[in-house]
Amino acid sequence: MPSSRLYVTDAIVLSRFDYGEADRIMTLFTPVHGKFKAIAKGVRRPTSRLGGSLEPLAELRVALARGRTFDVVTQVEVSHAWLHLRDSLESAATAWYLAELADRSLEERHEAEGLYALLRHAYELLDAGMDPGRVARWYEMHLADELGVRPEVDRCVECDRMLESGETFRWVPPLGGVLCHRCPGPPADRAGLSVDAVKLLKAYQRLDVEALAALRLAPAVEREVEAAMRDFLRVSLERDARSLEFLDEVRRDLG
Ligand SMILES: [Zn+2]
Repeated sequence: MPSSRLYVTDAIVLSRFDYGEADRIMTLFTPVHGKFKAIAKGVRRPTSRLGGSLEPLAELRVALARGRTFDVVTQVEVSHAWLHLRDSLESAATAWYLAELADRSLEERHEAEGLYALLRHAYELLDAGMDPGRVARWYEMHLADELGVRPEVDRCVECDRMLESGETFRWVPPLGGVLCHRCPGPPADRAGLSVDAVKLLKAYQRLDVEALAALRLAPAVEREVEAAMRDFLRVSLERDARSLEFLDEVRRDLG
């Protein structure tokens, strides 16, 4: 095999599924090549050299050989295992959620150094024991930045008026952020957002992680912001079914 077909990259496994008798297809996220699918041949055999290392929720150093449809994993080393990230179920589940958001945000084979650094940093924070909810909100807000869809939380998305603290706000993700009480839109009882929630959304845009980790917050406000960001990303990441794209890829491979 000519050496130009081999390359080495940092990678985080975003997802994987079993394929054939002993193989596994992995979605790898890398800084330079973005996300792509690679095949790990024989990885489910107990004798496989790759088996134990090719796992999600860790940063890997992966050697690959270019293939016709899928590149082939030839060697793996664990660079950062982030073992404490798995100490609590909430932390581990959050890590999976962040990986899925990255997966849904990325185009195949498009450079994504900013988003890679973001996911990597989020995993470091989870590993260091930061509250998983705050890591997730921080990540969601910066992911929105990476995608160029930063939520508007200072001005009304319709009339561009600077919002004042005594007002009633509504959260309207399809419009990109907060709507003032003067502009038409969904009623406040369905889309209302408290002043404290708006403040917290601003904090996630402006404060660094150390400051965010140290904030004393009412659980109700954290839940409000969680729901707001979840709605926002659901709208921002709306995509056609990617599973169909993958099915086409597999069919091409088999054909
Ligand atoms: Zn307005």
